[in-house]
Amino acid sequence: SDRATVIGAGLAGSEAAWQLAQRGFAVDLYEMRPESLTPAHHTDKPAELVCSNSLRSDSLTNAAGLLKEELRRLDSLIISAAEKTRVPAGNALAVDREKFPEKVLERLKNHDLIRLVRREIKDIPDTDPLIIATGPLTSDPLAESIKEFTGEDYLYFYDAAAPIIEAESIDYEKTFFASRYDRESDDYLNCPMDGEQFMDFWEFLLGAECNLPHDFEDENYFESCLPIEVLARRGRKSLLFGPLKPVGLENSETGETPHAVVQLRRDNRQETLFNLVGFQTRLKWPEQDRMLEFIPGLESARIVRYGVMHRNTYIDSPGLLTSSYRLRGERPIFFAGQLTGVEGYVESTSSGLVAGINCARLLDGENHLAFPESTATGALAAYISDPSHENLQPMNINFGLLPPLKVDIDERQKRRRRRSEQALKELEDFIEQKGI
Ligand code: FAD
Repeated sequence: SDRATVIGAGLAGSEAAWQLAQRGFAVDLYEMRPESLTPAHHTDKPAELVCSNSLRSDSLTNAAGLLKEELRRLDSLIISAAEKTRVPAGNALAVDREKFPEKVLERLKNHDLIRLVRREIKDIPDTDPLIIATGPLTSDPLAESIKEFTGEDYLYFYDAAAPIIEAESIDYEKTFFASRYDRESDDYLNCPMDGEQFMDFWEFLLGAECNLPHDFEDENYFESCLPIEVLARRGRKSLLFGPLKPVGLENSETGETPHAVVQLRRDNRQETLFNLVGFQTRLKWPEQDRMLEFIPGLESARIVRYGVMHRNTYIDSPGLLTSSYRLRGERPIFFAGQLTGVEGYVESTSSGLVAGINCARLLDGENHLAFPESTATGALAAYISDPSHENLQPMNINFGLLPPLKVDIDERQKRRRRRSEQALKELEDFIEQKGI
């Protein structure tokens, strides 16, 4: 066959369809809007931006900037449409909210090989190969069908995530490794607080500003997964007997138990990222930065992924996907976009691009292509598909996902730029070698 099916003309699906068509394959691209809208989309245009009109930083000292530059070099439809419709926004690539999706629509419509069909797909069709890119607000019938196909435990409907921080920004002098009742273990990094530090932290949480839930979400939390600020409002003890409980974590030198302890857990294999255990939150982003100032050892820590609590449909990619975003197993089905656990417009675009290229290779009878992990494109794919990864939380691109730099460069901006330059060089070599 020389035909592929893509479901969902969002950021990921539009990009995937484009990559396939540019490689000479016909694509049926299904989009349910305008007949059915999601709770966040308002128009019938493909790649509608549901919230901010910014695709974030355009600078190589920022990982989102690197990812965009990689996409640019890989002939991304979304990035090129964004550039054609950009509005001034300093270092960021922001777009005209109306002109951007119009440009995407125009390019899709004018491509001879792309057929945009307005229809809601309710069951996983048996037209292979297939790319499913229906986003965080995948319609209910299709979500059910995906759940049946992958198994109940492999589809999540809610995203309750704690902030993730860069390991190199932690002050290790103030923290210690240990598991509860096991001082030899280095599974957790502990930030001990004395009584006064705890009270300051608690009072901060009581006054901190939160994001209000979207109107399509209700405030019913699972009891076992309460936001840290909601716990705080229930009283000091809720924290001290909850996520900040200190028992079994006494100081190995003095034998004393701290008043409270914030625990961090490694978030990736390279050990460049840590998450705050039990700190799912709805605090506004600047408030999350401020919160860290109250935690010993984290005063200057940098958050790479802020805590969130919102509706979000995504699959357990570590258990299901390869780094080409293809389902493990016989059927040639790919997933792309936020549904795979990548987070953000540009990240969704990146996964659509990789899935589209790999789907085209499959139709060509070629092997699948894993992008090098030293590129932002490859690092993101490796992160969400790493089989050793339990409890995937959706992830933005950040430098913590890329392998550490081998050369010693002190200044952070310079180090970041160097990393980006290396990544782009690797990507150029890869493009040439593999004839992408
Ligand atoms: P989408 O862009 O949502 O595309 C999926 C498409 O599939 C949609 O067009 C949908 O109509 C269609 N579809 C769904 N079900 C079916 C079906 N059964 N049959 C046919 N078509 C179907 N990221 C940012 O970077 N910045 C932000 O400001 C931001 N704000 C967000 C706000 C909200 C409320 C949400 C939910 C997410 C936000 N995100 C944001 C996260 C994410 O990057 C975007 O949701 C992004 O659009 C995801 O791209 P996607 O291609 O995976 O999904």
